[in-house]
Amino acid sequence: MRKKIVAGNWKMNTTVAKGEELAAAVAEKSKETGETLLVLAPPFTHLTKVADKIKGSQVQLSAQNCAAETSGAYTGEVAASMIADTGAKYCILGHSERREYYGETDATLNKKLEQCYANGLIPIFCVGEKLNDRESENHFNVVKTQLENTVFNLNDEQFGKIIIAYEPVWAIGTGKTASSEQAQEMHAFIRRILTEKFGAKADCTSILYGGSCNPSNAKALFANKDVDGGLIGGASLKVDDFIAIATSF
Ligand code: PEP
Repeated sequence: MRKKIVAGNWKMNTTVAKGEELAAAVAEKSKETGETLLVLAPPFTHLTKVADKIKGSQVQLSAQNCAAETSGAYTGEVAASMIADTGAKYCILGHSERREYYGETDATLNKKLEQCYANGLIPIFCVGEKLNDRESENHFNVVKTQLENTVFNLNDEQFGKIIIAYEPVWAIGTGKTASSEQAQEMHAFIRRILTEKFGAKADCTSILYGGSCNPSNAKALFANKDVDGGLIGGASLKVDDFIAIATSF
């Protein structure tokens, strides 16, 4: 049985006080979301405060990124060990905004994956094609290559813990969502290639959809057999929308 997961990526939004308020409200309302695992990924500065607000609830904490190195002279970076020390259990890696604006390559992501595993953090690993890849019908190849260059390097034990997020770049923050059919088609493709590499273990891998997911489209997206939940950006900043998405299974 795969875990249903709805994770909120707050990106670079909210003050600490607003973040605490939002986290407390999500923790309170998480009583309505049944078995679904809720994860909040606030900015680094908010992690310890949000950890306090969700303590005792079924909500878990994630970072949005981690350093590729262990420690030392890396100004502005935050190590996976420091993230784990806040109580976070998850870490988003490979988000398209990190790939695009901060030049994250597959080589960097491999180091970050190692840092997560070395520090007990579960990666929420993002893959997804750009609009021109989809228009040129190269989207399957792009996603396959992203996985082959990174996730395929994991050992079986590491693979058993990973969460994959399929995020078509053209759908992130644009209001354009992949159709339910497009999402299922890609999720099934991802599961198939992961199964070819890792065998039946891939049946247990949660694959989340991300890209303008909201309370109106979540039900259709989550109804698909290979869509195990969502990675939510904009709508995760509104407690009622986030909880409505989390109750859309
Ligand atoms: C994201 O950035 O992970 C995301 C899915 O954003 P949005 O929901 O705002 O498209």
